[in-house]
Amino acid sequence: MINKYTRKKINDSSMIRKMFTAGRALKKKYGEENVYDYSLGNPTARVPKELNDSIVNTLENTDSMSVHGYMPNNGIEEVRSKVAEYENSIKGINIDKDAIIMVTGAAGGLNVALFTLLEEGDEVIITKPYFPEYTNYISNAGGKVIIAECDENFMPNLAHFESCFTKRTKCVIINSPNNPSGVVYSEEIIKKIGSISQKKGLEYGTDVVIISDEPYRELIYTNKKSSSILKHYDNAMTVYSFSKSLSIPGERVGYIALAENFKDKEEVVEGLTVTNRIYGYLNAPSLFQHVIKDIIGVSVDVDYYKKNRDDLIKIMDEVGLDYFKPEGAFYLFVKSPTDDENIFVEEAKKYKLLLVPSSAFGVKGYVRLSYCIKNEVIQKSKEAFKKLMKNL
Ligand code: PLP
Repeated sequence: MINKYTRKKINDSSMIRKMFTAGRALKKKYGEENVYDYSLGNPTARVPKELNDSIVNTLENTDSMSVHGYMPNNGIEEVRSKVAEYENSIKGINIDKDAIIMVTGAAGGLNVALFTLLEEGDEVIITKPYFPEYTNYISNAGGKVIIAECDENFMPNLAHFESCFTKRTKCVIINSPNNPSGVVYSEEIIKKIGSISQKKGLEYGTDVVIISDEPYRELIYTNKKSSSILKHYDNAMTVYSFSKSLSIPGERVGYIALAENFKDKEEVVEGLTVTNRIYGYLNAPSLFQHVIKDIIGVSVDVDYYKKNRDDLIKIMDEVGLDYFKPEGAFYLFVKSPTDDENIFVEEAKKYKLLLVPSSAFGVKGYVRLSYCIKNEVIQKSKEAFKKLMKNL
C-alpha cells in the first residue's frame, strides 16, 4: 500500500531510534532502573520554573482565541517581535519581526527551509559528524546529500568543504554546538565557512544559503560563546529550537531567523510561511509561542548537564575508555575499543548499556553516549561499564 520512498525510509530507519526501541524492550524486561539508556537526546533537566509560571499565566490571562485559534502561518506577531529583539541582543545584529518565522522545532524548521529552497537535484553540504536526520530532510525535499570531511578534532576540514561545492550547491547546513561530537565552532571557523560559501557562489554564479541549526546554543560548558553566521553571511538563516534549552522537545516550538540582507528576503519569508502552511505544519504550537514570548532567554540549568558530562568522563577514565571531551550539547563521543564500533555496541547491550555507533553520524570508530539522562543512571552505569571492559 505505501509508496517506495516511505518503504525505503522504514528500511533505513534511524539507528538512534532503533536503539531507543531496543531500550524500551529491555526496560520492560529488566525494569527501567536496570537499563542504562545513552541512546536518545531526550532532555531530563527540569524545566525552568519560569516556564511553568508562563504556561499558567498565558492560560489565565490571554484570550482563549489567541491561545488556541488559527493564526498567520509565520506565527504570532508579538512573539516574532520578542524573538527578533532577543536575536539582535545576543548576536549583535539588526533584524525585525518579519525576518522571524515560528516553526515546529528545529526538525520542522529545517524541513520548511529545505522544501522552500531546493529544486529537485540541488545539493546540500553537511559536515561529518552530522545529525543523521539531515539526510532524510534533504531527500524529503528532493535534494542530494553531499558530505564534507571533518578533521581529527571533528571540526570541518575546510579544504574538503570547499571542494564539495558545485554549480548545484544550494545549501550548507552547519550545527554548533554539534550533535554528536559536542564541538563548538569558533567565530573564525564560522567566518571561514561564510567566506568559502561566498567565494564558491560567486565562482558558479549561484546563491548558496547557509542554514545554521542551533538547538544546543545555550548548552556550552567552556567560556566559548556560540557564534552566529547571521553576522557574517548575507544568505544565512538560523534554525533555533526550544526543545533542549527549555527541556520541551514534545512541545515542538522553534523559529527561523533570516539575516538582515538575505537576498529576496520578502519572497523567501513568504515562501517559508507558505511552506509552513501547505506541508501541514500550519503554525508552531500557539500556546507555546505565547509561553516563550515572556521568558525568552531563560534556559534549563546548564550545570546539570556539565555535571553529567564530568561524571561520565570520570567513569570513562576509570574504565580506560578514550573519548573526545565535548564543549557543548550533551553527547560524548567515546573511542571504540573494538575496530568495528558496532561490535562494541552489541557487547555493551549485554550489560544493558545502550550506545549509538558513530557510523550513524558518518564517522567510524566511535560510539555516542547521550548524557542528558538522570545523573543517578550515569552513576549506576559505572559497574556495567566496568564489567563490559573486563570481559571484552
Ligand atoms: N538538529 C539537531 C542537531 C538535533 O540534535 C535535533 C534533535 O535532537 C534536532 C535538530 C531536532 O530538534 P527539534 O526537537 O527541535 O526538532
